[in-house]
Amino acid sequence: MSIEYPLNEIYGRNDRVLPELMPLAGTQMPQPYRGLLVHQRDMTPTLCSFHKSQIRIEALKSWQNENMYYREVLLRSKESNRALLYGGIKINLSLLPAEAARKVLEEKEPLGGILADCEVEHSSEPSGYFEIKAGSFIDEKLAVAKGSILYGRRNTLYSPERKPIAEIVEILPLETAVNKDYDVIIMGGGPSGSSAARILAEEGYKTLVIEKETFPRYRVGESLIPYCYYPLKRLGMIEKMQSSHFQSKQSVQFVTQDGKLSAPFYFMKHMNHEAANTWQVNRSQFDIMMRDNAVEVGAEFLEGTTVKKLIRSEDGKPEAVKVSSDNGESTFSARMFLDCTGKDTMTMSKNKWRITDKKLKKMAIWTYYKGAKRDEGIDEGATTVAYVEEKGWFWYIPLHDDMVSVGVVAEKDYLFNDGRDLKKIFDREVEKNVWIKDHLSTGEVVVDHKVTSEFSYRSKYCAEDNLLLVGDAFAFLDPVFSSGVFLALYSGVLAGESVVEAFRKDDLRAHSFEDYSKSFRNGLEAMRALVYAFYDQDFSFGKFIKKYPHLHSDLTDCLIGNVYRDLEELFRAMRDFADIPAPLEHGLPKPSREEAQLS
Ligand SMILES: Cc1cc2nc3c(=O)[nH]c(=O)nc-3n(C[C@H](O)[C@H](O)[C@H](O)COP(=O)(O)OP(=O)(O)OC[C@H]3O[C@@H](n4cnc5c(N)ncnc54)[C@H](O)[C@@H]3O)c2cc1C
Repeated sequence: MSIEYPLNEIYGRNDRVLPELMPLAGTQMPQPYRGLLVHQRDMTPTLCSFHKSQIRIEALKSWQNENMYYREVLLRSKESNRALLYGGIKINLSLLPAEAARKVLEEKEPLGGILADCEVEHSSEPSGYFEIKAGSFIDEKLAVAKGSILYGRRNTLYSPERKPIAEIVEILPLETAVNKDYDVIIMGGGPSGSSAARILAEEGYKTLVIEKETFPRYRVGESLIPYCYYPLKRLGMIEKMQSSHFQSKQSVQFVTQDGKLSAPFYFMKHMNHEAANTWQVNRSQFDIMMRDNAVEVGAEFLEGTTVKKLIRSEDGKPEAVKVSSDNGESTFSARMFLDCTGKDTMTMSKNKWRITDKKLKKMAIWTYYKGAKRDEGIDEGATTVAYVEEKGWFWYIPLHDDMVSVGVVAEKDYLFNDGRDLKKIFDREVEKNVWIKDHLSTGEVVVDHKVTSEFSYRSKYCAEDNLLLVGDAFAFLDPVFSSGVFLALYSGVLAGESVVEAFRKDDLRAHSFEDYSKSFRNGLEAMRALVYAFYDQDFSFGKFIKKYPHLHSDLTDCLIGNVYRDLEELFRAMRDFADIPAPLEHGLPKPSREEAQLS
């Protein structure tokens, strides 16, 4: 029996030309089609379980020739109405019990469902698989892009006496049309995801970013530090930033509770370089610029689409993602996956890899003011860190358009010691810092107060075979030194470069990402030491510099993000004042199964 049968008869009867079906070994078929087609089961239950949906049929054409019943058909999801399969079927009604034959002729239920309901014993025996470049008729019926490559199978259902109950050609839809095979799928389109996407797409790798939200979307994390310059430069973003409307930021300053201002750390005094001029960004706009920068070199960006699940092969390696959007569910396959899902920490949460930093268990409440005071001249865009009780602190970040981002960070017990009303708590704390109170006095709140408590964690592993964790999806540090976007950009670039290297060596196993882990963790450790010092009751920048004036420059290096260098002397000296922790040992790549077996 030819692989086209009975679809060729159906097409012939309707004077259409059947596109060529190109035979394919089952093992050559990409996922998820292999899983959906290469098996000895009926299609109806397979589709029901894959799409988590009941199925109904839409008979496009049907006719009967004595006991032979022919039908051209679409299987649709009962929930979403999406077409899940296009097919041609010839059924020998004489081999079915009367009840089953009657139901077939009613054209309401798919054959697989009828056979199951009527307990008709049969076997399902595919005799071939194929790919087909969908012609205009199938394109239209399956609602896929013209010329899409689709996959299908030729199947026969046999009675226990090995008589053919049904001959079927089955072709799957949208998954195939949109699911081109990618080299890399990046889950999450924040700064880390877009950075990695730019690097990979620029190197010619077929890259898809899947982002659950539709841009513009809100994100906190507006204050950049000078060393963002270097990843931004690598990404071709500097000119775009320089011609943007974002508020320029040239310093950071610290304010005591009674309003005393420390001498600001002016970045240009420390580095005679254009990097000294950085920015306070509106993240919804910055993240769009980062997205467009990746799309410019060929990365594809799919918004409004949530990655629901990483699909693994039999040996446990990730090979596809299941996603969901307003258009229903679909699947995309790739060779390599980057988890850039930020604080959603997809992989970390699923695998229970989150290890929280118990000493940095803070929370933040924040909002936005319009018309609040800002300093003048080069101080206009300064980030201010203003202390409240018990080493709590405010951030005060002047943005463009006369907006200020302002938030308070402290221990949960301290913030919530008198009720849970966010505005009340925030206003109570404003009263405790003279400088903050004065600066906000001319402004008005324009956004409801927000809260987060997911502070300071790191994943047990940073990679496994074919999967790498990047940005906040790997680690997050208390935001006091505005290191988050820098670390997201830095690790995004590093991840992109590491994956390019791994592709070149044709080795995407976890151990290929050891250098990535080491480098990312080194930067995190430097920032973490600084954060620990900041919260230590015995530490103050003033006291420290007084005792160790020659380390002023190293300290400023930390504040600007120059943390990828030897800072051991600085941290040794800091131990005179503060409890500086030893580096965390976790965050390495997870040994592959093969490697684990060898060791
Ligand atoms: C209170 C607070 C203040 C901060 N202040 C600063 C600051 O001043 N300066 C600074 O540099 N950093 C700051 N940060 C940190 C900064 O916000 C983050 O470090 C930074 O956004 C990390 O970038 P990312 O790309 O890793 O993750 P994100 O920017 O969070 O991007 C992750 C993306 O993944 C998407 N996503 C999640 N799950 C899925 C899924 N299943 N499928 C598809 N898409 C998904 C999300 O929608 C999101 O767009 C602050 C953080 C907090 C909590």
